[in-house]
Order: sequence, then C-alpha cells, then structure tokens
Amino acid sequence: MAHPQLDVILAELEHNRAEREELYKHFHQHPELSLQEFETSARIEQELKSYGVETIYRLGETGVVALIENGEGPVVAARGDIDALPMAERCDKDYAATGATQIDKNTGQETPVAHSCGHDFHITALLGATQALLNQRAAWSGTFMAVFQPAEEIAAGAQLLVEQGIVDKLPKPEVYLGQHVLSSLPGGAVGTRVGAVMSEAASIEVTLHGKGSHGSMPHLSVDPIVLGASIISRLQSVVAREIAPAETAVLTVGSFHAGTKSNIIPETAVLQLNTRAFNKEVAAHLHEAIERIIINECEAARCPQPPEFRYYDLFPLTQNEENATLRVRAAVDEYFGADSVELAPVPASEDFSIIPDAFGTPYTFWGLGGFADQVNAPGNHSPAFVPDLQPTLDRGTAALIVAAAPWLLK
Ligand code: ZN
Ligand code: ZN
Repeated sequence: MAHPQLDVILAELEHNRAEREELYKHFHQHPELSLQEFETSARIEQELKSYGVETIYRLGETGVVALIENGEGPVVAARGDIDALPMAERCDKDYAATGATQIDKNTGQETPVAHSCGHDFHITALLGATQALLNQRAAWSGTFMAVFQPAEEIAAGAQLLVEQGIVDKLPKPEVYLGQHVLSSLPGGAVGTRVGAVMSEAASIEVTLHGKGSHGSMPHLSVDPIVLGASIISRLQSVVAREIAPAETAVLTVGSFHAGTKSNIIPETAVLQLNTRAFNKEVAAHLHEAIERIIINECEAARCPQPPEFRYYDLFPLTQNEENATLRVRAAVDEYFGADSVELAPVPASEDFSIIPDAFGTPYTFWGLGGFADQVNAPGNHSPAFVPDLQPTLDRGTAALIVAAAPWLLK
C-alpha cells in the first residue's frame, strides 16, 4: 500500500500526461550540444515559471536550478542532465530530431545533433516531478531542489556548476538523486544498487619523444614507432597480470599516430588511452602502471626526453551511498513492485557525483528501463537510441517523486 500523500502527488501526473509528452517531444526535436544548451535552458526556465516556481538560479550560461521551499524539513536535490550528442539520429518516430546541424564550439566542427543518451527524458521527468510537488504543497514539507545540469557528455557541466558556486548559493541537500534511461534494464523497470554503479573513466594522451632520422639510418634515430609498438604490447599485461581477476578494469589504446612517409623515422608519436574501473584503487593502479611502463620503456629506448602525459575527459566513480540508496530502494520497491530491480554496474561513466561530493551529500543514481523490446534495444549513444515514450516518461517522473518521498512526506 502506497502512502496516501504520495498518491495525491502522483495523481497530478494523470492530469497533464499529454502536455508532458508534448514537452518531451519538443526537447527531443530540439537537441543542443554540451555547453550550448541555450534554447533548452530557456525552455526549462519558461516551464518552471509557468508552474509558479519563484526561485530560479542560473549557473553558468545554461545551468538552471529551481528551489521550492515548502516549510520545515529536509532539502532533497534531484538532477537531470540536459545536453545532447554530436551525431545523427536514426529513427522512424514522428518526433525524430530534425537533423539540423550546429557548430560544435568544442571542436569547431559542424555536426547534426541528437538526444541519443535520453537526457530529454531526464529533463522532462524532472520538470514533471517539480510541477507535481508544487501543485500539491500540502502533501509534503521541506525543500525540493531541481538541478538541470548542462554538459554531462563532456564531463564538464557538474564541475562548472560547482565553479559557479552551487554549494554557496544553494542550501546543502540531505540527499542528491539522479537517474538515467538505459537499455540494459527491462522496459519500465527502475534499477537501484548500493555501491559502484558507473565506472571511473579517464582519457590519457601520451606524447613519446624519439629522435628523427632517414629510414636508411636507423642507428642515428630513437624510433618512436618501435617504442610505441612495444609500449602498446606491454600495456596489455596491466589488466591481465597486475589487476586481481575479481576486479573489473579496461585499458584501451584507441589511437596511435606517428610518421608521414616510409623512409622517415619521425621525431614523435602520440598515443591516446582510455581507462575504466569500478573502484578508486584499481583506477589509481591503472594510471600508475601506465606511467611506470611508458616512462621505463622510453628510458630503455634512449629517448632524449621523457614522455608527456595529458589526462582529459575525467569522469569520477559513481558510488551510491548505502543508507540513502536503501531508503530509495524501499520506496521504489513499495511503489513499483516487481518493476523495482537490482541494477548491474554499468561500464559507462557520469559526472553526476561531482555536485553531491562538493556539498558533502550522500547520493544515489538509478537506472530506468527504456525499451519494451529489451532484446533488440540499442545502447545509449546509438543513432537508434530513442526509448519508448511510455511508460518511460511516466516512470521516470514518478520515480523522482517516489525516491524523494522518504525525506519529504510528513
Ligand atoms: Zn551519454
Ligand atoms: Zn547520458
């Protein structure tokens, strides 16, 4: 049996389903790139004002935070990410993205844009939950903070909101909630998990400094191609031989660039590496091993100067705090019954945890099944990743309210 006051809030979703679906379609058809979510954030602000939200903060150019203060009680924050991806969509829905191109400020390239990660659901669900809570103020008390976060896809938006002073400008939440549409869960399911849910990730650009020469005079060179090949082979031993079999780790060399012509030994080579891990110790071990192997291989090859390492696209580990997660899990179990499931760790990565970590607030991040046909469901970032409109939208909206209920209901 659900809580009667919770039922009152959730009943709001029955009254405006058509409007919420139209709003979702609007966001789906008007995707915008990371840190360029200008129309998206303007529409979010316009919607919030139309619901009667009085306190709205702008953080950075495209971050929007709504605060609903409703008397005594805990502060609960919920986050929806708002950016889309530089890619074309492949979908036969009548609300498919228009395919209009944008210039990506990050790369200078013109590109089509699509919501192929489902952030349009996250926006619309958070707006719907905010509206329902606002319309039924008598059913709860406390403060609800809706964080519409830009630039998740480039791991920049959460950090930007921290730099823009979210911790100083807004009250400290008791819990920070978030969700993501996934194809790895059955359609309509809500998947929760205590502990690590999304991996830590890093990209590392490595520049190897050799010594150039004519291809016919290799003895006068330090060949960065031979060196790079040796490094790439040796790096394969890190996960295989240094990480315990029970741990999960990935070390991929995704790019190796050197040279221009068959008879020129080049001066430099550049490698791009990507790492994933589900705990901080394993991530630290990977990075230590990478640097140790590369520095020593360069030494062994007589490099005239040491290699350079540039870390970028750094995503922290998303590790759900136990008490908050169990509280959410109990509420979700009660409301969604058999559709409340255990979430397996997802080998993708998120910047979600940066804001709660800056506040010193426990957080929990759950998955939302997006496809009735789970067997044939495309993965996130696939051009075909367009989750079923329903029940995904209703479930995502209800899940936010249900998850906040243990803190907000009287
Ligand atoms: Zn994504
Ligand atoms: Zn995403």
